[in-house]
Parts: sequence; structure tokens; C-alpha cells
Amino acid sequence: MDLMQKIAGLRAELGKDVVVLVHHYQRDDVIRFADFRGDSLQLSRVAAEQRDARYVVFCGVNFMAETAAMLCYPTPVILPAGDAPCPMANMAHLEQVEEAWERLTGIWGDDLLPVTYQNSTAEVKAFCGRNGGAVCTSSNAGRVFKWALGQKGHLIFFPDEWLGTNSALSLGIPREQISTWDPDEPDASLERSGDARVVVWKGYCHVHTHFTLEQVRRVRELYPGVRVVVHPECRVEVVDAADAAGSTAYIIRYVEESPPGSTIAVGTEINLVARLDAEHPDKKVIPLSRSLCGAMYRTTPVGLRDALRSCLSGEPINVVHVDAETRRQANLALERMLSLSG
Ligand code: 13P
Ligand code: SF4
Repeated sequence: MDLMQKIAGLRAELGKDVVVLVHHYQRDDVIRFADFRGDSLQLSRVAAEQRDARYVVFCGVNFMAETAAMLCYPTPVILPAGDAPCPMANMAHLEQVEEAWERLTGIWGDDLLPVTYQNSTAEVKAFCGRNGGAVCTSSNAGRVFKWALGQKGHLIFFPDEWLGTNSALSLGIPREQISTWDPDEPDASLERSGDARVVVWKGYCHVHTHFTLEQVRRVRELYPGVRVVVHPECRVEVVDAADAAGSTAYIIRYVEESPPGSTIAVGTEINLVARLDAEHPDKKVIPLSRSLCGAMYRTTPVGLRDALRSCLSGEPINVVHVDAETRRQANLALERMLSLSG
């Protein structure tokens, strides 16, 4: 029996005992076994609503599986990859975040709210939870920023400089009121922040900063009439030069809703772009450039088979653990996001 048949057999045997959640950046041989595929927000929602399954199997990266584990506790969440760290999530460490907080509250008192991208550690989410802040994803960052700035005069956002800057600009906040916090240069960062309303952490996703303005220009020259859609983790100049920007779910909708015969250049992870092209034979979907997320690619069909096998034996492997206090505080920030997102 080949591997795909084996996984399908295990999946059928487990029935409703298992729910398999899969992020859009996973490879096709993993995607095909999804009960739900989605962007970060959609997968968080499904995890939060889990009632019946004995196990959640999460095909994605650490921060996504941790979020699911916190939201659907006590149901065990299994990460087939074992360890799939997102480099950007690890660009904001709790001690650095606390230092920035201490310095900024030194000038603004309590007129400051923390917001963290879902792509962050559970400890940073907990920090936001205990300080009245919230989590956001790429599909609700604007809405969460607006809420935060309705509560307080300033917000600090971790850890993606580009999602933070793009979201603030989309709300009409002028560039001069957005400053960057470099954890390696806290003195200079503080000096820069004097007039800021929004402070964005100097972190980035290498998969998305790979895309350049030059690539957007080239694709427009090569394919007159092309539509360009990118993820908001791209640099500001790339988002500005594109026709549209949004989460992975938004990008999928954008392609679906483009008229037959369209050419669409997409600035996001290559597994999703290639799948969109295969799923839309009446359209031409091309990558702005090939860019792969190594952390997402750590989930393999063999890993999925082993995870399902372990559920069947009642001895699950690669179960994600978050300590109780971190979970309690992080859930405050996650629940604020979910209630803000309607
Ligand atoms: P989405 O929430 O848009 O799926 O993004 C997740 C992610 O990791 C993008 O790099
Ligand atoms: Fe992290 Fe970027 Fe991969 Fe998303 S695409 S999981 S932000 S490295």
C-alpha cells in the first residue's frame, strides 16, 4: 500500500476522533488530507470551536499549533512536524518586549497598548493579554489596530515591521507617526519614538521580504494587464505597487473572483501560488518570484502518517504544550481578537 493510501486509511479509521487542520502554505500531499484548510484566523476559529474530536492534528508551524492548543484546551493538539519554528515569531523575545514596554511606558505612561501578530510566541501573546492588548492576524490587523488606538493614544506591535507599517498606513496614520523598534538598539529606538502613535517591531518574514518593487515592475512589463496581489508581510513599496494585498484567504478569493483569462501575479509562499494555478486552469497564476517557507515545508506526509498512527494507538506524539498561566493570559489576547473579528 502506498503512503497516500495508508494515510487515507488511518484517517478513515479515526473518523471523528481526529480533526486535521492545515494551513494554505502546506504542500499538496498534506493539503489533500485537510478537514479544514485556512489562514491563521480561520484555523484559530475552527480550533476554538472544537468540541467533538479527541485530537487536533495541526499541519502548520509552531505558533499556529500553540494557538490552537491554547484555544481548544484540553483537547491535545499534535504538530506532525514535531518542531516547525517560524523565524519571524522568534524575532521578539519576551525580555526584549518587556524592555521596550518599560521604556515606552516611561514616556507615555499607561497610554500605550500592545498588539501582537499571531506569528509570535505564546509568551509574547501572554504579555499582550496581561497588559490589556490583543492578538491579530493578517486578515484583521487593521480592525485590531483601530480598536487599540480607540483605547489608547499609542500602540506597539510585535514582531512584523511590514504588517505593522502596512496596517497603520491603511488606517491613514502618516508615516512620521510610525516608528520602528529595534531591540538591539533600544536607546535609538526610544529617541525615534517620541512623536509616534504606532511603534512597530523590527522583525520580518524572509519569505515575503524576498519580493521586490523591481519584480512587480518586471511582471507588469512582461504581462500587460496583469493583476498583482501580495501578502501584507511584504515591504511597503511592494504592497503599494500591487493591486491588492491581504491574507492567504484573501489572496485565494482574489484569484477566484478574477475573470477567466486573467493573469495574476502573486507575492506569497510558492506552495499556495502553484496550487492556485493548478486549481484555476482558466487563469494564469504566476509567482512574483519563487519563495518557499522552510518551516511550513517541515510537515511531510510521513510525519502526518506517524501522527495519525499515534492517535490511533492512543499514545499521541508531538503534542504541543503551553503552561497553564501562559495559556490563561494569552487566551485573553486571543479572545479579544476573536470577539473583534465578529
Ligand atoms: P495568513 O494568516 O495570511 O494565512 O498568514 C500566515 C503566515 O504565516 C503568513 O506568512
Ligand atoms: Fe513565518 Fe514567513 Fe513562514 Fe509565515 S511564511 S510561517 S511568517 S516564515
